[in-house]
Amino acid sequence: MTEKIYLHDAYAKDFEAKVTKVEGASVVLDKTAFYPTGGGQPGDTGFLEINGNRFNVIDVRKEGEEVIHVLDKTQGIEVGAETKGHIDWEKRYAHMRLHTAIHLLDGIIEKYFNAGMLTGGQIYDDRARIDIDMQDLTREKAEEIIKKANEISAEGHEIIVKEISRDEALSIPRLSRTAPGRELISKLDVVRVVEIVGVDEQADGGTHVRNTKEIGRIVLGKYENKGKHNKRVEITLENAS
Ligand SMILES: [Zn+2]
Repeated sequence: MTEKIYLHDAYAKDFEAKVTKVEGASVVLDKTAFYPTGGGQPGDTGFLEINGNRFNVIDVRKEGEEVIHVLDKTQGIEVGAETKGHIDWEKRYAHMRLHTAIHLLDGIIEKYFNAGMLTGGQIYDDRARIDIDMQDLTREKAEEIIKKANEISAEGHEIIVKEISRDEALSIPRLSRTAPGRELISKLDVVRVVEIVGVDEQADGGTHVRNTKEIGRIVLGKYENKGKHNKRVEITLENAS
């Protein structure tokens, strides 16, 4: 089992750990700040320092309770070795801003545009894609949603990460907005919840910024009408001032 530093400290960029497993091109550590690909958020890259050597982390995956770091090489790495990990912060921080932006849009759609629902999302290094089930959505309406999101975001809402019991989680109707999400919650003892105070609350395993002001300005990119129940919207972020 790997202790997942990113779950309680999304701003940890550097950390110390011990190697617990070496297998082919990958290593497992007793703890890590590297986020593994999942929940629409890409895994981190960066490097590990072991005995004065640098090993690049090219992919990070989660397998059960372990986080697997795929390296460019593993020669010379032994179980028990002390390591210093460094994540590519610029890239991770972009993922965090985009991830919080998606939750913000989700909350805005629910609160102010109630005949709609976010059904999917994918974060890239420079943009994010969201799928929205809203029959009357048009490019103009998407602009309107984003405008509202930017207004609310500029108010500076805090983002809080908390853990609640399964029963409490199941009593909050829209904590997970998809059937597989609700199914997953019903199997957990403790549910991690990401709350944008006053705007949105959902079960989530990703990394987020601390305040909506860090998101910057959301800008609408490509808009695609992929059918009655699926409008695909791309967003980019302008730097926070
Ligand atoms: Zn999320």
